[in-house]
Amino acid sequence: MNLIILGPPGSGKGTQSQFLKEQYNLMHLSTGDLFRDEITKQSPVGKKAQTYVNKGQYVPDEITNEIISNTLKDIKHNFILDGYPRTISQVASLDKVLTSLNETLSMVLYLDINEETVIKRLSSRVTCPQCKAIYNLNFLPPKITGICDNDGVKLIKRIDDSDEKTIINRLKTYKVATAPLVDSYQERGLLRTVDANQDNSDIKKQIKSYLSSLKGNKNNG
Ligand code: ADP
Repeated sequence: MNLIILGPPGSGKGTQSQFLKEQYNLMHLSTGDLFRDEITKQSPVGKKAQTYVNKGQYVPDEITNEIISNTLKDIKHNFILDGYPRTISQVASLDKVLTSLNETLSMVLYLDINEETVIKRLSSRVTCPQCKAIYNLNFLPPKITGICDNDGVKLIKRIDDSDEKTIINRLKTYKVATAPLVDSYQERGLLRTVDANQDNSDIKKQIKSYLSSLKGNKNNG
């Protein structure tokens, strides 16, 4: 099954992708994680992406499309795309790659959430730079403050989560560039809306129930 998880920053795309990856044995492809890793390595792509990511702006489509197309050509199927596509041009590029691979999208899960909840969540989010686990100091705290439950690595706050101005900037960019994708996938009959204001366990339940409707899904029930 080939999935997209769509929603504003802080809607829980990364958290739900981790769950989907484990539950359905999917490859999790997060553009945000990909860019952050390239920035840490200071690779040519990382150097180009850095200023955009840190300011909460989108990395130009040519750079993003290229890195994702190359990765998808290796993975081919059984993936969850988290943070891609985010613009209409990225939708077109993804369609082209999938056609060349003879693959189709199974479903687009849209995490629908209130803006106030997003701002609260992002300002208290911390992540593990190694395994990419996501915690929230108020909602999903680690067992030991500041330390990742999985690997004992020190948790960090992302630069783009550090001040309210950058968070608001990301929300604005999302509304202009990415929100129109919701209608586009709705028209194609692929969109399923998840109420992301709920508790984590209820969100998972809703996602599971949508996915159980997919034909050939071994994990039904
Ligand atoms: P969030 O969904 O919380 O904003 P991500 O980790 O998905 O966080 O993305 C972090 C940043 O990486 C974005 O603000 C943007 O700069 C860059 N980025 C991620 N995905 C894309 C994309 N599809 N197109 C352009 N830039 C992207």
